[in-house]
Amino acid sequence: MTNHCCETMNRQVNVACDQHADPFSCPDALVAFSAKFQEYGLIIHDGGTATSTIEFCPWCGRRLPESQRDRWFDELERRGIDPWEDEVPAEFEDARWLASTEPAQGA
Ligand SMILES: [Zn+2]
Ligand SMILES: [Zn+2]
Repeated sequence: MTNHCCETMNRQVNVACDQHADPFSCPDALVAFSAKFQEYGLIIHDGGTATSTIEFCPWCGRRLPESQRDRWFDELERRGIDPWEDEVPAEFEDARWLASTEPAQGA
């Protein structure tokens, strides 16, 4: 499980509601975390799946990790995969692709 900036965020992105399997249909869910893009968004409860991306945690005020959305598309392109046309590999549906493509971190 991803560790978020603070306990509140941890709780919020992992809201376990026994009435709504989908956080977008749960009025108690405030924040959606996209593992594949590493993006946080405020859920807009308009019946769809719209979110408003946030850069700072509303609770602890810390800057949230940078979005990996551009890299996601870059990585797929590098593999010759068109996300609109082709089937996206399973590891690209969550955070696993980050582990497999992470550049070696300097000390
Ligand atoms: Zn926080
Ligand atoms: Zn609910």
